[in-house]
Amino acid sequence: MSRRIEILAEMGFAPIWRLRNKSVVLEKERPSSGWIELKQAVPACTACGLHKSRTQTVFGVGDEQADWMLIGEAPGAEEDRLGEPFVGQAGRLLDNMLAAIDLSRGENVYIANVLKCRPPGNRNPQPEEVAKCTPHLLKQIELVRPKLIVAMGRFAAQTLLNTDASIASLRGRVYRYAGVALVVTYHPAYLLRNLPDKAKAWADLVFARKTMAGL
Ligand code: URA
Repeated sequence: MSRRIEILAEMGFAPIWRLRNKSVVLEKERPSSGWIELKQAVPACTACGLHKSRTQTVFGVGDEQADWMLIGEAPGAEEDRLGEPFVGQAGRLLDNMLAAIDLSRGENVYIANVLKCRPPGNRNPQPEEVAKCTPHLLKQIELVRPKLIVAMGRFAAQTLLNTDASIASLRGRVYRYAGVALVVTYHPAYLLRNLPDKAKAWADLVFARKTMAGL
């Protein structure tokens, strides 16, 4: 069994579908400056109360010129400790999901969160925290200039799309955020608790892959 099929089986995706179209990498122009400033601004940020309880900010990780940008909610305990998004159990599932569509963090994928600091006790982010942190995310999107954003989970989707609609009702369509195509899927942490919905997440990734091929 190939490693990819093993990964898919581990994730509970069956039957195994194969993607026919590989995405095409196109030349694109991106701003060459701005990362240094942003990487200084985020760790120094005290715009909301979360700076008081954080161990460190969690900036983002991956290919800074990626076509794919995945956006989650906020750092958890492991991320706060290590300074990298999605390094806990949900992160391992995310890596498997990426592998299932021939992607990996760092290669044409950039991963970030709406919030750069951990909400204490993993509580939901507050509207004021989101409002203060959104400029950092917008700047990241502007610098990466991805072709497609995948909003993972209710919080990221609702924040980026300015809606209170459910993930179930938002899936399967292409939206725009900051001028970039955006699709919605379940959060990996939710999938760990709701195994049957992994099949829907797989369908979302196939949809994302097809969307990317058409961009
Ligand atoms: N959940 C998120 O939304 N982001 C992380 O970085 C980790 C868990």
